[in-house]
Amino acid sequence: MIKFCARCVSPCQSGFGADWEDGELCGGCRVWEETSKVDWEIKWRRYLDLIDGALEAAPDREYDVVVGVSGGKDSYFLVHHAVELGLRPLLVTYYGNNYSDAGNRNLFRMADVFGSDHLIVRPSVKVIKSLNRLGFAIQGDMNWHNHCGIDTVPVREAVRRNIPLIFYGEHGFTDMHGMYKLDDEVELTLRGRVEHSLRGYDWHDFTGQGLKVLGWECADEMLQAEDLRWAMYPTDKELTDSPVRAIYQNFYMKWDGYQNFRLASDIYDWEESDFRFTRTYRTYSNVDDIHENGIHDYLKFIKLGYGRATDHSSKDVRAGRLTRREAIEIVKGMDHLIPDDLARWESYTGVPRDFFLEYCDSFRDPAVWSVNNDSWTKRDLDGRNREYGKVPRSLKSVWPDPDKTHAWRTQMWSKLVSQGCFE
Ligand SMILES: [Zn+2]
Repeated sequence: MIKFCARCVSPCQSGFGADWEDGELCGGCRVWEETSKVDWEIKWRRYLDLIDGALEAAPDREYDVVVGVSGGKDSYFLVHHAVELGLRPLLVTYYGNNYSDAGNRNLFRMADVFGSDHLIVRPSVKVIKSLNRLGFAIQGDMNWHNHCGIDTVPVREAVRRNIPLIFYGEHGFTDMHGMYKLDDEVELTLRGRVEHSLRGYDWHDFTGQGLKVLGWECADEMLQAEDLRWAMYPTDKELTDSPVRAIYQNFYMKWDGYQNFRLASDIYDWEESDFRFTRTYRTYSNVDDIHENGIHDYLKFIKLGYGRATDHSSKDVRAGRLTRREAIEIVKGMDHLIPDDLARWESYTGVPRDFFLEYCDSFRDPAVWSVNNDSWTKRDLDGRNREYGKVPRSLKSVWPDPDKTHAWRTQMWSKLVSQGCFE
């Protein structure tokens, strides 16, 4: 049964499925508590030693550090931080073509603001649209290509140029859900990338051959290995021969996205979103990607029964910026809403709105959802069960059996493909 954290509003059924070890507090709250116990001075000295060691290991480097940047508030903080340390950064972006106007302005200013070189890797829109559809069809995540780009492109560029360090912001699964302790100081690895960020899928799964193995021939978009070069992580040999270490800053300094927002806007005139999101009250998080707070997040609600309003308000409760009571009201008002950006995604990919809504129901996690009165039902923060829409008739005898659900999806998708929506 779903239970909720006694301090914030996070449910135990988090994005990576961690069990709470004990009692009342979620993993994210436990990590937040750790931040007040850690000796940050010791951490900082270890961090500087790590950087010195990395630089010594690559005397003939082109740059000192790759900073993976989306153009968001955390990107500005990271580059500011690198420059303050006296490092010469190369900014690297995977451009997933979902940028808002403010997000584009923030991104394209970075080279001039910091006087740094900025490398932007953008696959063709045709390839990105294909990956939007495939990610949605197979795993209910149209933004899979973004997760892949963010965890791959900076590493490729660092290895290629013998740049010994990569700075990422927070390790999200730890900061939000307590996947690791702060003393674990984990770094990005091939295994972490595939198993956590990419949920077990890699670029080759989306070629014709890969789709055949997955039982998804019907979704073949004729993607070739050449189309997905940017998504190929360096080989084991390349990694072994390279000095590169990709580190997450929240293991070495107290990480707070709100403080990064203050710094970015006060010093660099960084822009918040110029429109309000449907599914969160924050206008300074995920500004660069119009779907990240939108349908990407709606799909999380469909799967796991909670969304960005829960994540953001949980962080703000931990930091003392909201009370739990206020957070509960925010979650009740936002977590279930169908977002406005669905219209853009519909015209962008050719997947019709009604199809999207019916199809995504097949991804509901039976650990969260049950069916009552032919309606999707889950337990909410106040302990009451609520209904969230009717179960599509065609899914009733199928969900949640994995084999039947797979057969249902491929049948639905084949029908859609045959209607010529994607041309
Ligand atoms: Zn909590």
